[in-house]
Amino acid sequence: MSVNSQNSTQQLYNIQVKKREHPFISIGARIIANVEALNMVESAGNLSRHRTVPFIVAEKDSYKLKWVPALSGETLAHAFQSHLADFGDKVCYFCKRKEFLKHSALDFYKKLLDSKLQFEEWEKNLINEYENKSELEIEKEIIKNCIVEDIGGFLVASAAPEHSTSKNKASTESAAKGKNEEKSDKERGKMVRRTSIVQFSYMIPTLDGIDSGASTTDVQMQVRMANNAQNFATSLGYSNPIQAPYNKEIASSTYSFMVNLDLDGIGYSSYTNENIIEEEERNRRIDLIFKALKLLLDGNFGAGKSRYNPFILTELVLLSVSKGPALFTVSPPSLRMDDFILETVERAKSYMKEIQALSIHLYLWINEAAEIKSRVERLIEGLINKKNTDGETNIGLKEYSPKIDDKRELKITIISSRSVGELIQAIQNELKSQKQEQK
Ligand SMILES: [Zn+2]
Repeated sequence: MSVNSQNSTQQLYNIQVKKREHPFISIGARIIANVEALNMVESAGNLSRHRTVPFIVAEKDSYKLKWVPALSGETLAHAFQSHLADFGDKVCYFCKRKEFLKHSALDFYKKLLDSKLQFEEWEKNLINEYENKSELEIEKEIIKNCIVEDIGGFLVASAAPEHSTSKNKASTESAAKGKNEEKSDKERGKMVRRTSIVQFSYMIPTLDGIDSGASTTDVQMQVRMANNAQNFATSLGYSNPIQAPYNKEIASSTYSFMVNLDLDGIGYSSYTNENIIEEEERNRRIDLIFKALKLLLDGNFGAGKSRYNPFILTELVLLSVSKGPALFTVSPPSLRMDDFILETVERAKSYMKEIQALSIHLYLWINEAAEIKSRVERLIEGLINKKNTDGETNIGLKEYSPKIDDKRELKITIISSRSVGELIQAIQNELKSQKQEQK
């Protein structure tokens, strides 16, 4: 066996069986955004267009396809990772600058080293040594040193360095055909993949918003007024327009989006499940995640803010904290409001009934300033009053915990306030008390 064939891709990793210790968090949010240009996609002439997506609406006897304004999951992920980069101290060179290259082409990074870019010592070593490191080692180095990539995932797909490619050419010419699989990592380039522990949906209009016509786009025309300059240009025979009209497609809509967070993945190798960071560091990263999440839920995302800073109201957030063998996600927040809440509650109940080792705590946050507040409160009162027929316990408006069986109940906490901060605080408190119970 040659040295090359003992390379890392053929090496079998010792995969550890890992018990889930941290909860899975799923979030559905509903917002209203007025006059926004948060996610533009293209410019055709002097028109720049808002992103739109196809959306299927079910009707009584058939279905309809509609095109609606949207923000991409990439837009939300970029905002979230930018917040992490702002708060975190362990962040790599490009993530710190909110350019999420994530070491995707280490051969390119090597060229940057030559141009004397100021990388930190660990990153310099990684770039210099990557050809001799296994996937596991590369992942470990990045997890340890860049929280954005530990949490947001990354994909290293580096081409073979030029020198080894030419060497490779010479060797394949002399070697027998069909032996390509024995190429070393050095000759093949590097492929290292880490799946993100956070998932983002697109941000799309809600069904009730579409039903009631509360989702639309409009083209705003603007002209740079420069009468004198235009006269000078004309008299000088300068043909490019000085007074330029331009058009921007803006959107106003009810919107909804989902975020899922698997806290159990933080700091663990995706190759072996091996723990790579200290417990204290993991707790610190979890705190950073919630800081970033708070900004996101408060409407800190998207572009086009220099002239189209949007009017955003976060109306409602439904969040589940689940512990156990199944990853429970809230229902799509784009459903009609009542369906979104009731379906999530019923699904949570059925998950807990079917899976003994699963516990779910739902948090429903309602903005005091939202017009839907009284409607949602009536809905919740209806839920609680149903307890007489279901034999469920009523602990009051703030806590409603239907019984699953003799020992377990589904916890629902209702928070109404003017800041999502209270919701985030409640989740952090729960995680802290869970940890103390474990001790
Ligand atoms: Zn990074």
